[in-house]
Amino acid sequence: MSYLNQADYVRYVCNCGSLKPISKIYFCRHCLKIRCGYCVCQEVDSHYCTNCMEIVPPTEVRLKKNRCSNCFECPCCLQTLCTRAGHVPLRVAVTEGEESKDVKTTPKKVYYLSCSMCRWTSRDAGIPDQSVATGGWPEQENPHMSRINALIDYHKILASIEKQQCETKKFRPKRPFMQTTMFRITSSMIRKHIGHPTIPAAPSTDQPPPAVASADVEELPADIFTKPVDINKITTLEQRLQHLDVQAENVHELRPQRRQFLVKRSQRCRVCEHSLSKPDLCSQSVKFKIQLAAFYYIPEVRIVTCEPLRPGKSSELLLKFCNPTQYQTQITLLSLDSPMTPVTVTDEKDELKQENLEQESESPNLLPSIVRQVPVAEETKPINVHANADLTLPQNSFILPLRDDIAEYDDTGDTHNFQDDPKLMVWRKDNKAVIRLHVTPDENIEENEPVIIGFVMQYGYVNTITTLDHKALQKVDLKVKLYLTVGNIVGSA
Ligand SMILES: [Zn+2]
Ligand SMILES: [Zn+2]
Ligand SMILES: [Zn+2]
Ligand SMILES: [Zn+2]
Repeated sequence: MSYLNQADYVRYVCNCGSLKPISKIYFCRHCLKIRCGYCVCQEVDSHYCTNCMEIVPPTEVRLKKNRCSNCFECPCCLQTLCTRAGHVPLRVAVTEGEESKDVKTTPKKVYYLSCSMCRWTSRDAGIPDQSVATGGWPEQENPHMSRINALIDYHKILASIEKQQCETKKFRPKRPFMQTTMFRITSSMIRKHIGHPTIPAAPSTDQPPPAVASADVEELPADIFTKPVDINKITTLEQRLQHLDVQAENVHELRPQRRQFLVKRSQRCRVCEHSLSKPDLCSQSVKFKIQLAAFYYIPEVRIVTCEPLRPGKSSELLLKFCNPTQYQTQITLLSLDSPMTPVTVTDEKDELKQENLEQESESPNLLPSIVRQVPVAEETKPINVHANADLTLPQNSFILPLRDDIAEYDDTGDTHNFQDDPKLMVWRKDNKAVIRLHVTPDENIEENEPVIIGFVMQYGYVNTITTLDHKALQKVDLKVKLYLTVGNIVGSA
């Protein structure tokens, strides 16, 4: 699967116009369209700690400041710290009259935090050992805590005032005694009339003093340029940024940090609101309940080889196609300017059309109305990639058999018997096929410039989603635009 993380030589055009490799796109089985990261809604499903795997409800996450209360991270190497036990000899208090030779020492069990990676311990930082294994570790106080609290309190007051104002507006009668107010003259009206400015409302005494920017900074110490620097005692940028409120300069000032929670996200199609990806809720599980990744539904294209490319000269290009679905598919390569509307293959043309119309007009009511978002109209961006080479497209289409996991281990040979064009088909095994194409880069491309080709791939797709009034499988010919960076120009000769 490592190819999924490699440079994007083969890019699929999403319906929004962005170009993505197949590993980064989804395929909505309900709209029958490609969806990329811009075309999905992200939702947070759960917060969990990556160390103790505890799932935390969202209300608690805010209280805990998005950090686990049980797990600590090493401030040096950011690995998880473990609690270790040690013994400290404890001298029993000597009571008067007793002889000193009877004094016994009883060992007491104490606990400290230790990093098994870099050997940092809480004893290095001067944190006293604890008598209980579960926590009780001193929290490092934020030096600006009082200021932050004052600002939070003030904004809470502002929020409550605003809420009150909203409520009074809501319940105010529409004609509040027009007759009397028309003849009532307030002091502010008199001030306005005689040209004095109105007195502003007295500022609330709770308002914290605003922060003032100052140009006066502390002078640097005189020995800053002469003192030799011990890099081992100075914290790195990563270590400082890990603890933003303190940003310790020296290694001995580092304190263990509580581990941050991670989230599990699910993705939803913006247009039809169906889930495209939903993780298993259990924090230990890496599986998905729903995973409509494009490489399960759309034939994958890979570049096998390409002959050295020269401007105006034809070069041979080998492309590998792979059918990931459980149904046989027929692939036709078309030019970039061919229309992109899908074509129904089965006879129930009208039925599908009708269903598509229904989907477009109203999205299914999957979520409660409060959570539901208004379906977003697709805005297509212009594609900012231009093909700079001519591609000879094959006249014939070719068939890719269905994916068969058992056939992967079968070396007895291919049992399929397709009438392939020998000029086009180079190699074929199970659900994969390699075809031969010819690329002619434009005359005006400079040396070392990348050569980009583009085509429309039409593939047969079997829609397995059955609706109440439509139980048969539908065969649809879908189209996807592809741009391939086949290589660089090697020279004009
Ligand atoms: Zn998109
Ligand atoms: Zn934890
Ligand atoms: Zn460490
Ligand atoms: Zn959709």
